[in-house]
Amino acid sequence: MTDMGPQRTRYTLPRFAPGAWWIVEEVALNGPSTLYYRLKPSQAKPSAVRDERGRSALEAFAALPMKAMEDRLRAYGRALREDATTEWDGAHALELVAELVTFVRTFGPIGVGWGGDFGVQNNEADRLQREIDTAHWVALGIDPGSVSSTEPSSFWRASFWGHGPGRGALPRVERRYWHPNEPWSERVRLGDEGLPCDGWSSLADEYKDLNLTLELAEAIAQGDQFGCRRATAKFVGENTDFWVGAPRPLTTDYGRALNGIRPASGHVKLFALPDHQVDWVVLGKSLVADLITRQIDFAMPAVDLSADEGFAVRWRATSVLEVIYLQLLEHVRHRSSFGIGRCEACGGPILRTRHLGGTGNRWHSGCGSRGRVRRWRLEQAARSSVTRPETEENASAKDVAPVAAPLVAAPLPTARSASSASGLVAAETDPNRP
Ligand SMILES: [Zn+2]
Repeated sequence: MTDMGPQRTRYTLPRFAPGAWWIVEEVALNGPSTLYYRLKPSQAKPSAVRDERGRSALEAFAALPMKAMEDRLRAYGRALREDATTEWDGAHALELVAELVTFVRTFGPIGVGWGGDFGVQNNEADRLQREIDTAHWVALGIDPGSVSSTEPSSFWRASFWGHGPGRGALPRVERRYWHPNEPWSERVRLGDEGLPCDGWSSLADEYKDLNLTLELAEAIAQGDQFGCRRATAKFVGENTDFWVGAPRPLTTDYGRALNGIRPASGHVKLFALPDHQVDWVVLGKSLVADLITRQIDFAMPAVDLSADEGFAVRWRATSVLEVIYLQLLEHVRHRSSFGIGRCEACGGPILRTRHLGGTGNRWHSGCGSRGRVRRWRLEQAARSSVTRPETEENASAKDVAPVAAPLVAAPLPTARSASSASGLVAAETDPNRP
């Protein structure tokens, strides 16, 4: 099916090697609600992919300023509605979500729900459709052979939407319409259903869920009963009925979190019980397990030989979202007690590699002093190139070199404040400074 061009399902482009996924060549917003990707046929390798701050896909995604981007997009949409003379400007819209664009250009498409979408053949339905079309033309007195096929054409997609621990729902098979022969930008404008895309609301939901999951994972690492209770409540609501009866093969055994006898009915509102009856850390762990399962449900395991010729399992992910949860799985399996920290520079999460009190967990490698200085140099050079005809190397070397040492001890939120705190404001504001 490779001749059909990229669409939002598995098996429609060359298969990925284990541990590789899409790269994004181009991004577009055709309105405030959907982000479209033009995918590159090349493959990214997760171990190599870190952004300029040294963050993994998980760390960088959870650090995105999602609320701010959403507000900017909304404001733009509102302004357009009030001014009927102005048209949607896709390039400007992308600037409003520049952080997200940088993310997908670095890491690939986020791909909410992509793992559960499969391109399928549905020959019988296609045959029936052709018969109906023929009968239609004949009834109108038109020779069916003289009718050229018209755009858009369609394809079939099976969506496994009830994924997760229980896999509780039957897949849906849906006819989708697309314009495979149009240029990419035109397909975006038409809202082509075959294009890889992410809905903004799904992105926002996944962002929220991931950050809540990380909050819960950190509370688990700290053995914090109250923190686990609070984080769990944010996910499921305090009125939730949990199944705590005898363990079933396809249902999460929340009963393990119950101190004491399981009720005969099998159902209980855990949040209504006195605190000593519930082990919230155990409940939190069950929930994290469910959340990871839900996201990696379709990341295919590939059995392979390891370096020492033993058998090894590696994962084949379709989207960055799967990669993110595979990273989280690895973390909670091997470094669960280390938890998740927060970067003092960018505010994003850090999957700790050592226990609290150790070093190296306060900043991402590129957010620490060296990274801040390097980024500040780049920003400075970019600014300088606008205001004065000086080479980037000249500008950055002169302005930044002296501040490298003092910055080590002082964690500062941004490169800009780092420069002003170090008495270098003049360098930013005076374009004639030698
Ligand atoms: Zn950081």
